[in-house]
Amino acid sequence: MLKIEIDEHSGFCFGVTTAIKKAEEELNKGEALYCLGDIVHNSIECDRLEKLGLITINHEEFAKLHNAKVLLRAHGEPPATYETAKRNNLEIIDATCPVVLKLQQRINKKWQETNNEDSQIVIYGQAGHAEVLGLVGQTHGEAIVVEKKPHIENIAKDKNTYIYSQTTKSLEGYKLIVNEITAHINEGKRCESFNTVCGQVANRLNGIGEFAKSHELIFFVCGKKSSNGRILFDECKKMNPRSYQIEGPEDIDLKLTLDVESIGICGATSTPKWLMENCKQTIINYNNK
Ligand code: SF4
Repeated sequence: MLKIEIDEHSGFCFGVTTAIKKAEEELNKGEALYCLGDIVHNSIECDRLEKLGLITINHEEFAKLHNAKVLLRAHGEPPATYETAKRNNLEIIDATCPVVLKLQQRINKKWQETNNEDSQIVIYGQAGHAEVLGLVGQTHGEAIVVEKKPHIENIAKDKNTYIYSQTTKSLEGYKLIVNEITAHINEGKRCESFNTVCGQVANRLNGIGEFAKSHELIFFVCGKKSSNGRILFDECKKMNPRSYQIEGPEDIDLKLTLDVESIGICGATSTPKWLMENCKQTIINYNNK
């Protein structure tokens, strides 16, 4: 008898849940609502909200927009976005996750406090990622973004250094990069690091590994752009080589489900529960034919 389990810890984190709830509340009022960037790194959930009336725009379109209502997603935005909104008479529905907001404020405070010393702020994160752009914006674009070891060469050796992390990076990766940066900075210079990886991501890592190990076959449901999705999927793959990343039910190689007795379905902080349920149902339907 085939057993299919959905990981109870997978699915939207509270930041994404709140952003989507805010969007739905606004859309229920029947007024036009724009969203700056994809509300969540999941094209299927974005399509669902677009059908309800949400209009996704990019920063170029945002700059040309006037007299409208715009939702800012959980990733947050740099100060320049708020300035544009003010200039263009845009009403902002701010769904920046409180965890990201707090991090933006911490970085901004540190940048202001250390402005007159010979210092630099480093952010461990993915260059160009929306959250990282919002964080770098707190330092007037001065923060140095590093993701991999070779990027450390961009960090000056002879400056006091303050290191933060994008909220959705892996804790393990953060610790490794902090060690490398600390070794890179000259003795006598300060090198302080602040672990700002979000608990919603860090705590899921162990749990998802155990979940992956406990099933013969794993389908990890996640959009291609999700940063924490990549980390969580890598953990699944490490613990269970028969792990497959899919965006939705249409990506499932159903033939794989024929020779197993236990299948696990899990996902990232941007994966809706209903999508994992749809995947489960698709497998059930196929196996009951
Ligand atoms: S992963 Fe954490 S910081 Fe990012 S949106 Fe979710 S709750 Fe907020």
